[in-house]
Amino acid sequence: MALINENYQKLQAGYLFPEIGRRVEQFISSNPDKKVIKMGIGDVTRPLVPSVINAFHEGVEEMAKSESFRGYGPEQGYSFLREIIAGNDYQNRGIDISADDIFISDGSKCDTGNIQEIFSSDSKIAICDPVYPVYADTTVMSGKTGSCQPNGYYDGIIYMPCTRENGFIPELPEERPDLIFLCYPNNPTGTVATRDELKKWVDYAEKNRCIILYDAAYEAFITEENIPHSIYEIEGAKKLAIEFRSFSKTAGFTGTRCAFAVVPGELTAYDKSGNSVSVKSLWNRRQSTKFNGVSYPVQKAASAVYSEEGKKEVAEVINYYLGNAKIMKESLTASGYEVYGGVNAPYIWVRTKDDMKSWEFFDKLLNEANVVGTPGSGFGPSGEGYFRFSAFAGRQNTVEAMERIKNLR
Ligand SMILES: *Cc1c(COP(=O)(O)O)cnc(C)c1O
Repeated sequence: MALINENYQKLQAGYLFPEIGRRVEQFISSNPDKKVIKMGIGDVTRPLVPSVINAFHEGVEEMAKSESFRGYGPEQGYSFLREIIAGNDYQNRGIDISADDIFISDGSKCDTGNIQEIFSSDSKIAICDPVYPVYADTTVMSGKTGSCQPNGYYDGIIYMPCTRENGFIPELPEERPDLIFLCYPNNPTGTVATRDELKKWVDYAEKNRCIILYDAAYEAFITEENIPHSIYEIEGAKKLAIEFRSFSKTAGFTGTRCAFAVVPGELTAYDKSGNSVSVKSLWNRRQSTKFNGVSYPVQKAASAVYSEEGKKEVAEVINYYLGNAKIMKESLTASGYEVYGGVNAPYIWVRTKDDMKSWEFFDKLLNEANVVGTPGSGFGPSGEGYFRFSAFAGRQNTVEAMERIKNLR
């Protein structure tokens, strides 16, 4: 008899975005004349930039000729891309990360989920509340938790509330975790961690022998000076942190698929007898066994993000989104909302008025302003009473949506 992995049955039904989709579809079918503006899901809208497209085409052409055709590539990614990343994202910033520490993948979603399997299934995981739902759900799938409690917390996960009271930066947990997920710039709150904040986490992880899983998917949106772009800017982090980066939001690769994980050679965890083991060698084994690499044209396209032209073009797109964020922040503030984020991230995190519930605000916004956002409670219980707007809509739609919200009663 084939038994299922019953951990899947612990997952809360109705993942956030399908539920949003259902409500929007229902609204549109009963109000076909209304123009709905979507500022919900975190997906980019601007096309790939010309340098990336050119490189992508070149890659495809190479695959069409027997002299330049390529079959399986290295599971870790082509060294031309790993070298460019190490040089541009790390060494140029004075961070000693080598190409050898970089593992190219088809997404940070998979990486942040898959990384868990190289750690013990008894590992205690700490996550921020609210945050990108993938960390909690993959923790549940991997059998590290009990069931979901009425308060929305899974037994066995250490939750670290991020609220306006703590500036959306979590306190150090009282219970000692083994693995700590951090995400900066943050999805959904749009907040960043300063150097001092990150140092606090690195010191804590060192003292307690934890590993930090640092998701920096929105690194390219950092505009303020002195905000770390990488956890490895903090001394000692190479011994205890894995960093995840993605071309998805940086360069519009959500539908093209390319990302990378940095697993430094110095990073160690322990076996039951207390011997230290290289985490990089385990991840290399995992990837070599279960992954066959990202397609050559895609890796070629990703490498063009680092060309002189590519950098300029990609920065323009990011500025476009950040321009939307600025408009949203100003307009929502003027409309009397408490507004967070939007300066170093493409997300605006808004507190609803009069403690209105997130889903109630969702329905009001959809019905009265025909604008779609994301209920904060969908990112964790502490997101209740908040709402996330993404800056990825077109400029005109952004302006129009803000106008409609201004006129809400
Ligand atoms: C969008 C996003 C990612 C990127 O996922 P990909 O699989 O690389 O597209 C990772 N982390 C967070 C927090 C995100 O919002």
